[in-house]
Amino acid sequence: MEGRNCSIEDICKQQKEGLNMRALIKHLHHEKSSHKIGDHVLVMGWVRTLRDQKKFAFIEINDGSCLANIQVIANSDLENFSEILEKVATGASLKVNGVLVESPGKGQKVEIHAKQIEIVGQCDSSYPLQKKRHSFEFLRSIAHLRPRTNSLGAIARIRNALAMSTHRFFQERDFLYVNTPIITASDCEGAGELFQVTSLKEGASKNERGQTDYSEDFFEKPVFLTPSGQLNAEAYALSHSNVYTFGPTFRAENSNTSRHLAEFWMVEPEMAFADLQDSTKLAEAYLKFVLSDLLDKHLKDLELFNSFIAKGLVEKLEHVIKNPFEKISYTEAVQILEKSSKKFEFPVHWGIDLQSEHERYLTEEHFKKPLMVTDYPKDIKAFYMRNNEDGKTCAAVDVLVPQMGEIIGGAQREERFDILKQKMTASKLNLETYDWYLDLRRFGGAPHAGFGLGFERLIQYATGMENIRDVIPFPRSPKHADF
Ligand code: ATP
Ligand code: MN
Repeated sequence: MEGRNCSIEDICKQQKEGLNMRALIKHLHHEKSSHKIGDHVLVMGWVRTLRDQKKFAFIEINDGSCLANIQVIANSDLENFSEILEKVATGASLKVNGVLVESPGKGQKVEIHAKQIEIVGQCDSSYPLQKKRHSFEFLRSIAHLRPRTNSLGAIARIRNALAMSTHRFFQERDFLYVNTPIITASDCEGAGELFQVTSLKEGASKNERGQTDYSEDFFEKPVFLTPSGQLNAEAYALSHSNVYTFGPTFRAENSNTSRHLAEFWMVEPEMAFADLQDSTKLAEAYLKFVLSDLLDKHLKDLELFNSFIAKGLVEKLEHVIKNPFEKISYTEAVQILEKSSKKFEFPVHWGIDLQSEHERYLTEEHFKKPLMVTDYPKDIKAFYMRNNEDGKTCAAVDVLVPQMGEIIGGAQREERFDILKQKMTASKLNLETYDWYLDLRRFGGAPHAGFGLGFERLIQYATGMENIRDVIPFPRSPKHADF
């Protein structure tokens, strides 16, 4: 059991059995902790700070289980006390055996009087996390060590929590979790910029026209890292009714922005016998569910962002959960933008793709809350989105949120064989590659709808973090694939 994340009950049981198992710091601080004052506890973690008072040393340890550290008091009774003073430094990893005592200090209820301290891994003064505050930009250059900071540590826990409640939301509603492939022969959007995957080595043979000879490639044709799991998810929606995928997606678009990654995670539910309205309802319910779950279970971590990153964050999230999202059509959105006195870099007229500045104006300044925009011009949206009866628009929905713009893109899918085929041709898709997709309309097709949520954008929204590269453990962006 050592090192495992035990529940309070587990630890309680182990202690009754006389076992002195490792305690996670979050359990020591828990208000219903089974660890009582006077209990022996075993803690393992990394030194955050060390104050050395000659006869005493105060060592703050963190093990990643929560934001708070545990203070360990070491005194000269320890047989290796002088070694501790000499060798323990910020960043070192320790095993501490001691007695849980009430803390006279502010900010924590308990601390540990050490009986035994084992230095597991030393850490020298070249450790880059010496001082308390570093810029996020600097921390990105040490992505392997940044999870040991308060902010990135909290993001990792929040990310985990949002992933778990994503599964909970869909599982409780009988959505089937489907793992769609990473390698794909189809470019979902027709125009997306993709990463090609090949087993060919440099110098592979080319034909007379200088083109790559794919007969020697692993799949005997060009394949790519998937930009979305949606098309494959549709196949399972048309057998299992309600499904979702949640996996990595890849886009080689050269968007050096604070909202784009080359590798990001997407949550993509897909429902059969469903229309655009079902998809917008699901999107709103989903966002409210995961955010309220987060507030319930991770308030301590969120408060860190509330204090240091985005003042008013908690209040904002509470507001989002309690109030209905605004809903307007693209045409109405364009009217609002045209009427506004704001000067936009990209001029507004019906037919344009909304730019981030437009999206942000609508959600941040005009409505001041999450906004769902529906029925975009069909010519600016993907081929698979269902044409509306007006001949101009399609059944698309984007969910826009303040400070960010688009967080979700969804649609009712085109289920009518002839119209879909015609849209595919117009998008210059290779019909052979997509014949299986047309089969889904040939054989027992049904209206269906879904959406794609950028998981990192959700984490950004939940934490107020400015840059998307700071909410994924190891970010990939143009020129950056380190660690
Ligand atoms: P944008 O216009 O913001 O580039 P998009 O319209 O290309 O996004 P979709 O194809 O609709 O994006 O993908 C669904 C969702 O995936 C988006 O709403 C967004 O949350 C997320 N997303 C898209 N591209 C990226 C990216 N490069 N990095 C992180 N998240 C992304
Ligand atoms: Mn989109």
